[in-house]
Amino acid sequence: MAEAVQEQAYDWSEYRGVLIYVEQREGLAKPVSWQLLGQGRRLADKLDTQLFAAVIGAQVEHLAQDAVAYGADRVYICEAEELRDYRTRPYSRVMMQLIEEVKPEIVLFGATATGRDLAGAIATHLPTGLTADTTELDVEPDPSRLLLASRPAFSEKMMATILCKQYRPQMATARAGVFEALPRDNQRSGEVIRLDNRMQEEDIAAKVLDFVEDQASVNLEEAEIIVAGGRGLGGPEAFRLLGELAAAMGGEVGASRAAVDAGWIGHEHQVGQTGYTVRPKLYFAIGISGAVQHTVGMSNADCVVAINKDKDAPIFQVAHYGIVGDLFQIVPALTEEMKRRKAAGMQAMHEEGEVGA
Ligand SMILES: Cc1cc2nc3c(=O)[nH]c(=O)nc-3n(C[C@H](O)[C@H](O)[C@H](O)COP(=O)(O)OP(=O)(O)OC[C@H]3O[C@@H](n4cnc5c(N)ncnc54)[C@H](O)[C@@H]3O)c2cc1C
Repeated sequence: MAEAVQEQAYDWSEYRGVLIYVEQREGLAKPVSWQLLGQGRRLADKLDTQLFAAVIGAQVEHLAQDAVAYGADRVYICEAEELRDYRTRPYSRVMMQLIEEVKPEIVLFGATATGRDLAGAIATHLPTGLTADTTELDVEPDPSRLLLASRPAFSEKMMATILCKQYRPQMATARAGVFEALPRDNQRSGEVIRLDNRMQEEDIAAKVLDFVEDQASVNLEEAEIIVAGGRGLGGPEAFRLLGELAAAMGGEVGASRAAVDAGWIGHEHQVGQTGYTVRPKLYFAIGISGAVQHTVGMSNADCVVAINKDKDAPIFQVAHYGIVGDLFQIVPALTEEMKRRKAAGMQAMHEEGEVGA
């Protein structure tokens, strides 16, 4: 006989507030941190609670003010030479100390390599639940105050909303580019609280010997201009044309899954549900039909320009500007025009310089 399952009632009234981990390297914050503060602000307002930010590193005081300008009510900052480079143990110690003292009900991290590592370490130690790689975050109001953390599941065929009912805080990592940062407001005021670093260098087993930047990899999540190509390119050679247009504008090359699956370009270029979610100022969709699994990853772009020979292609529904025609004629012409304008701009600057001299 089936028995009715009684849900245990938990008292989480000690836990209040939303905490965002501000990820930085060499004093430069990852844009996902400000995007998460924007979403954190929306969640905190809905729960009628405060928004906290955690800044950890060496010489990162300026980020505390930035966090306030992007929506934080209170910033906890921990600065020490031992914290200059990210290492799991000292960073997770600081975050756990903070979580245990402040008791936020929700803690969010960017779904970056660092964010994933740090959130995983903290969730294991506390212990609490962690939803990785979310693309939607919402909250239920009082009395449950549950975080509704959604992400693609079952080979990306459906969206799953994951709840953490039995532990606090509720934790999630979120993809870059999904949420919108609030406009920076330098007039906002907030509290800044300093934390002690309780770990000495000799307590930390991992040593950073060197940092080697991966020059070859693309950075779609932070790109301001993306020139993306799809199956309409017909083969890998045409990505060279897109590369030239991207180079002329200082952008990165993106791709649809069809182009990636065909082996024309690497997966690190893929935009969409199973690729990157991007938020550039300008996005070119070239020879891309506009399937929903693609547009879900790029429709937050400020301006979308679509080039497609089919005037009825769905991509034109999300595009701000559409060009109906053959990409093999349009893309080289665009690249030439960009180069010409760039050269004309350089010439004008040069002449102005001469006039001024
Ligand atoms: C679970 C799941 C996850 C997925 N995840 C992703 C994802 O992350 N990203 C993604 O992109 N897709 C994803 N897809 C696949 C998606 O459904 C589409 O199949 C894919 O986006 C199509 O790629 P495309 O637009 O390049 O190709 P097509 O749909 O074949 O479109 C090609 C377009 O090129 C145009 N064209 C052809 N020749 C020219 C020319 N000479 N000049 C101009 N235009 C031309 C055509 O008119 C056409 O519109 C996913 C699918 C599933 C089921």
